Amino acid sequence: MKKHNNFQTQLIHAPRKAPQFIETVQPPLFRASTIIFKSTAHLFDRHWTDPYDYSYGTHGTPTTFTLADNIAQIEGGLYGLLAPSGLSAINIVNSAFLGTGDEVWVPDNIYGPNLEHLNYLKAQYGIRVKVYNSIDVSTFQPTEQTKLLWLEAAGSVTMEFPNLKELVKKAKAQGVLTALDNTWGAGLAFNAFDFSDEHLSVDLTVHALTKYPSGGGDILMGSIVTRDEKLYHRLFRTHATLGIAISGDDAAQVQRSLAHMSLRYEQQSNNAKTLLEWLKQQPQFAQVLHPSDKASPGHQYWQEICTTDKSAGLVSVIFKPDYDISAIRRFCDALKLFKLGFSWGGPVSLVMLYDLKMMRKLENTHLQQGLLVRLCIGLEDPQDLIQDIENALKYL
Ligand SMILES: *Cc1c(COP(=O)(O)O)cnc(C)c1O
Repeated sequence: MKKHNNFQTQLIHAPRKAPQFIETVQPPLFRASTIIFKSTAHLFDRHWTDPYDYSYGTHGTPTTFTLADNIAQIEGGLYGLLAPSGLSAINIVNSAFLGTGDEVWVPDNIYGPNLEHLNYLKAQYGIRVKVYNSIDVSTFQPTEQTKLLWLEAAGSVTMEFPNLKELVKKAKAQGVLTALDNTWGAGLAFNAFDFSDEHLSVDLTVHALTKYPSGGGDILMGSIVTRDEKLYHRLFRTHATLGIAISGDDAAQVQRSLAHMSLRYEQQSNNAKTLLEWLKQQPQFAQVLHPSDKASPGHQYWQEICTTDKSAGLVSVIFKPDYDISAIRRFCDALKLFKLGFSWGGPVSLVMLYDLKMMRKLENTHLQQGLLVRLCIGLEDPQDLIQDIENALKYL
């Protein structure tokens, strides 16, 4: 091509392009709102409803498709979609499958913002929200109107491991769609698409990639995975019409972290178990919650499904009722290595305090009374973390 006379034009239409044969360790990064069509024929031949047709940035680039495929593969699924946060992935599922008059069942220990979104849909569109106890299948009572069952393994904050087998069986018998928040297991602790000898499978998973896949505590992202092509197309349409898109840079960062995700998960899981053994010996706690522990609610269901002995890096402790909120606050403020903050899966250990009475609707006799603190174990030396807690307990 003739050299452009105008310096400004040349800056924009630079002649150098990466040759096709160059290969790098990480896949090349595509950033796109506009995707350039080769010709009008190409423009008119495309089908925006084809999930793998490149036509505009919101629909995806090779960078986002590569990551979505990898997440699907890790979780045992076939199709993946990406969203700008775990919560937005949850919201896509709720929006895709729930309409006026429909009923949805959620576990009592559901990830809180999911319930908030469902309550929003309830106010706006008149859906019905029912709550069940995840370790007592009899409390899940689907009706003709039930469209969706939310599952979480283990459940948020209190870490009960649900009776996944029986819940899924019961839902399937009634034709109810099953959606699992797979953030805790991350596709590593168990396979949500084949989790028992009977080849049981949930219909779809959502995953806060913000946690283990990112691993840095610095990126927000979510995914939806399924093995069912029809479901995928329905989700894809909701995803596309809502204009859900993620940044190519963020996708490339998560893609880069996937290579060591399993190593980090295992290390954090092992660190959590080291802390668990020590925490159980301390007199200040009424209950220590971690699915790998025999005394933790739903342990038998964890054992049934998580054959690899992997169990994430989250441990919750319930303080004996003699410690009031100001004592618990002094404890949290005295911690030095554990930082006060939401989320998990990053290198830094985190702590958060909760009042269960404010969070639960059902009476949970398997939980002790008292204020709860959740510890998210990072990648520090577990002995240093123990020392940090030992010191902070003096401030109770
Ligand atoms: C963090 C989290 C989410 C939401 O993910 P964000 O990316 O923070 O929106 C959903 N479910 C569970 C279980 C989580 O821990």
